[in-house]
Amino acid sequence: MPLPRGLPVVDHHCHLSPRGEGVRAVERFRAAGGTHLFLATQNYEPTVPLSLDLYARQFETTCRLARQVQEEVGVRAYPVLAPYPIDLVSASKALGADTALDLHRAALDLAGRWVREKRAVAIGEVGRPHFAVPDSVTAVVEQAFRHALAVARESDCPVIVHSADLSVDGFRELAERAREAGLRPERVVKHYTRSRLEPGASGGIVPSYLARRDLVREVVAGTGPWFLETDFLDDPKRPGAVLDLATIPRRAAAIAQDPALGAERLYVPFVESVERVYGWRPEIGPEGSAE
Ligand SMILES: [Zn+2]
Repeated sequence: MPLPRGLPVVDHHCHLSPRGEGVRAVERFRAAGGTHLFLATQNYEPTVPLSLDLYARQFETTCRLARQVQEEVGVRAYPVLAPYPIDLVSASKALGADTALDLHRAALDLAGRWVREKRAVAIGEVGRPHFAVPDSVTAVVEQAFRHALAVARESDCPVIVHSADLSVDGFRELAERAREAGLRPERVVKHYTRSRLEPGASGGIVPSYLARRDLVREVVAGTGPWFLETDFLDDPKRPGAVLDLATIPRRAAAIAQDPALGAERLYVPFVESVERVYGWRPEIGPEGSAE
């Protein structure tokens, strides 16, 4: 069975770079059946931004890539914006911890403003480095993370969390942090989740699962909300570091063709979960293109 007409096929977390394949990678996604991307910002320069202007320029680049993808390929890309939490490691060295934290907070405020102006749909990636950092940096990271959650609450939008793999306790701790900031855990997405969570085990935090074949087969029967993502990096120097952008449409086609599964399962990650977490549905235009 082919993918049903009108079913969006959504990669919930990827990156594109003007120095990488960019729009060409999205052509591959579209050719495989993909329709919508959540496009997370990233540093596009070799050094981390050390001024608010440089963050504004970075966010501009992400939004320009999203427009380009829509205009040139007919794939809808939703920008997700925030200063990358790991920027704090280098910025603290270059500017001192206090100035680095001030800059990071200002960049989070900027991202929140762009969400409220409808230029982006979520705050992300925010959170914690996935490797050990000096205690002095950990303190700054925690303050920045609290601010990120507060900005998401004020901007009434989801927040996409970057961190090391989380245990069940780790998910619950994250849910607690969200509640402390006045944010419902159901609006907090743990991106790059690499093992299946038992229903109810996450304290309400929404997993965005890395679309490895075996993991997709494990999670696809579960009720939502949950997402699928490639975390495609669009870095020609690191081919194969993450999944290719064509992965999710290919997995979707395999599920639709499997008589034991079937295409109805795909409405959970591609439609219902978007609606529950973001409050709207990705729509498909009359010619099958994203709008
Ligand atoms: Zn990412």
